[in-house]
Amino acid sequence: MKIICIGRNYVDHAKELGNKVPTKPVVFSKFQTALLKNNFPFFYPEHSKCIHHELELVIRICKNGKGVQEKFAHKYYDAIALGIDFTARDVQSQLKEKGHPWEIAKGFDHSAPISQFVALDSLKNQSNINFSLEINGEIRQNGFSKDMIFSFDYLVSYLSQYFLLQMGDMIFTGTPAGVGEVKIGDELVAKLEGKEMMCFDIK
Ligand code: ZN
Repeated sequence: MKIICIGRNYVDHAKELGNKVPTKPVVFSKFQTALLKNNFPFFYPEHSKCIHHELELVIRICKNGKGVQEKFAHKYYDAIALGIDFTARDVQSQLKEKGHPWEIAKGFDHSAPISQFVALDSLKNQSNINFSLEINGEIRQNGFSKDMIFSFDYLVSYLSQYFLLQMGDMIFTGTPAGVGEVKIGDELVAKLEGKEMMCFDIK
């Protein structure tokens, strides 16, 4: 199983970090050891002093696919979850300056808390999915999937040109605006269409 992540997939988020809006998806990956499940707490890592939350829609591949055409891409994923792409922003800035890969900033252990998956067709409005993140009861991120620069179908098609997509693979599809720091003691609640999917603490 692999975890593929997309950066800068929402215009407002690209702008808030001073990045250009991409013309092709920005692609990186995390390891399986990045996953943090079942509302387990996130322990603030020692290698960073600035961990940012990035709430993202995560789709799960249900069928192996290579070179998938966009018009058939919807057949290759059938479940959705909420995930957080925790990012050591201070480390990432240093890596970006040097032009180095991002794994230490984004792929470290437990950098990807994830909720349970639900069937995509259980959502009423699949063309514009709402998702939000509250920290200590305050809404910090509130996104809509229609604001994605690259749609789920486009991403599945694009990624399958380079990587064989396999059943169980997860795609983190990028974060809307509102990213910011988490602190020890914070409680994070992530909601999909208003329904709580994940709740955990920073320790
Ligand atoms: Zn992200």
